[in-house]
Amino acid sequence: MIRANDIIDKVADYYPAADFDIIRKAYAYSAYAHRNQVRLSGEPYMIHPIEVANILAEMKMDIASIAAGLLHDTLEDDPMTSIEDLSLRFGDEITALVEGLTKISKIKFKSSQEHQAENYRKMILAMVKDIRVLIIKLADRVHNMRTLDFQKSHRRQAIAQETLDLYAPLANRLGISWIKQELEDNSLRYLQPAIYRELEEKVARKELESRAFIDTVIKLVQRNLTHNGIQAQVNGRLKHFYSIYRKMVRRDIAFEQIYDIIAFRILVADKAECYNVLGIIHALWRPLPSRFKDFIGVPKANMYQSLHTTVIGPEGRHVEFQIRTHEMHQIAEMGIAAHWHYKEGYQLDDHDRQQMDWLRQMIEWQQDVDNPGEFLDSVKIDLFSEAVYVFTPAGDVKELPRGSTPVDMAYSIHSKVGDHCSGAKVNGKLVPLRYQLQNGEMVEIVTSNRQHPNKDWLAFVKTSKAKTKIRQWVKKEEERRSIELGRELCEKAFIRNKLSFNQALKSGKMQAAAEEFSLKHAEALLAAVGRGKLSARQVINRIFPEMRKSQKGKKSDKEEKRAARKPARDGISIKDIDDVMVRFAKCCNPLPGDDVVGFITRGRGLTVHRRGCRHVDKSNSERYMDVSWNLDRSSSHRVRIRVMSEDAKGLLVSLGTAISSQEANITSGTLQTTINQKAHCYFEIQVKDLEHLKRVKMALRGVKGVYQVTRIS
Ligand code: MN
Repeated sequence: MIRANDIIDKVADYYPAADFDIIRKAYAYSAYAHRNQVRLSGEPYMIHPIEVANILAEMKMDIASIAAGLLHDTLEDDPMTSIEDLSLRFGDEITALVEGLTKISKIKFKSSQEHQAENYRKMILAMVKDIRVLIIKLADRVHNMRTLDFQKSHRRQAIAQETLDLYAPLANRLGISWIKQELEDNSLRYLQPAIYRELEEKVARKELESRAFIDTVIKLVQRNLTHNGIQAQVNGRLKHFYSIYRKMVRRDIAFEQIYDIIAFRILVADKAECYNVLGIIHALWRPLPSRFKDFIGVPKANMYQSLHTTVIGPEGRHVEFQIRTHEMHQIAEMGIAAHWHYKEGYQLDDHDRQQMDWLRQMIEWQQDVDNPGEFLDSVKIDLFSEAVYVFTPAGDVKELPRGSTPVDMAYSIHSKVGDHCSGAKVNGKLVPLRYQLQNGEMVEIVTSNRQHPNKDWLAFVKTSKAKTKIRQWVKKEEERRSIELGRELCEKAFIRNKLSFNQALKSGKMQAAAEEFSLKHAEALLAAVGRGKLSARQVINRIFPEMRKSQKGKKSDKEEKRAARKPARDGISIKDIDDVMVRFAKCCNPLPGDDVVGFITRGRGLTVHRRGCRHVDKSNSERYMDVSWNLDRSSSHRVRIRVMSEDAKGLLVSLGTAISSQEANITSGTLQTTINQKAHCYFEIQVKDLEHLKRVKMALRGVKGVYQVTRIS
């Protein structure tokens, strides 16, 4: 078993001035926190954090990373360990690393579908504020995969799949090729045990029979390089299992058909020598032009640099060479982890700065960082500051812009889900619709058929899809209401002029009138009336030009045009406001003369209520408008009244006559008799104003048997 001192010795090799006390303290703390835990292998649990710290020491990571490696499972496994406790003992830097690791370990990977796997990878990166968290996590996974044998079979499969889909690609992104290869090979061992065993056997046999061949090539190359004055390190090896396996799958070929199974690596001092070596190799053997790749001139996204060439070598066999400098090799193996090697104890010179620059490029991965210097100042990074990653209840990961709300999430699922999104649960708890989603949260959208988008949503949604859909809905809804209101206004005007609205609509006259106003269809015409762009009178004049002549005190064209610009207000004046739809609330049917108040409803314009109507929200006083009656205009208004009387023969006729005697129209009437010989009559009548209604009420009170007349809402 590795002890604290073994790790300290390793660190002392590359960083003699380190604070080894922190490592000893972390070791002791972790040993105590895990004292009662046993690994599935039967060994003390402490073996695991020690091995992780050891891997980190071999990668020449800094002290904070190694201490965090020792402590990485304490927060999760030991109920006595708290963030406060850790930061008191080890400071904020190490505590933040342990906290970050604990957060990632809570992500449960569920789907290996390629697109989803990519989102999981991004989610992990988004949650990682310090890239060292990811490196420690990878070291943790390396050790877990080395000891996977002790897990139950289904757990082995799941962990291996997760490793292959998430952690090997992440290691690749960070350019740590040794971790990528080891994780891939170990995943294959558990995911395809039969194929893995077969490969193991075939590769071993191939290695054995290729020994002499490899030696011959190395000797030939070394002799030619020395002859040209080049000091180089040359070795040959078989490729790692997973890359062989992938080649077999991708090209659908057998192991025996893979020619470039052996790769030779030539390490030299500088870039110029790389190209010299290439020339020497090509002079020795004929190259396959299609296989030459210059990753020195054009480095890979993870900043891998090397020259690759395949030649027809001895015995006519294909031989692949990778030519690079020692430094390029270290970067190819260590990737971003090399950063800490450079950082510890060194002052950055220009050369290091260049190194940092590619490291920065490597991690920024499709994202643009504004200021490259920021990375040098701090290893703290925010890889996906523009995005947030959340889970659906099914375990899928959704990528949304940072600041997104449940409404954005709902619209990203389907526009219908968005249109009916009435709430959301985040990690099982109800949240408001404007709640800002956080990385790693599980979000469940609650829908209701009665819920509809609302203009207010535009103030907090983030995605353009949500914005567009909400605007579309609001626009459609406003259109619908304008048509409804326009229809109401036109119907009234038609009745006043003793014309049939429905007939005008059905006969196509309305359509024709619409076209004359350059509108597409009758509905657009009604909407224009509803919005106050046209008056109902203009519509009638257009359809029935003869009506115009009979009109009292007819208006000139000029006047009509002016009227067109003025909205139809039906006897209501509104202070300071010109172009607004006006409608009368159906709940209280205000009459000219009533004490009224205007109430602004978004998308509906102004609704006029009687003051004191219970449908007027008193808390929202800023939405009230001062309105008053404009009594010189005549119009009729519907109002409901209840007449209570003794039940008598011919009662309805008597009441009807009384109403008509005051020149009021009855639009509907019903009569209910009660068991004690009383009658309740309900009328909807049309009156001009409050005075008119009072006269009607008086006439009704004069009918024999009537004892109460009330206006009702
Ligand atoms: Mn662990």
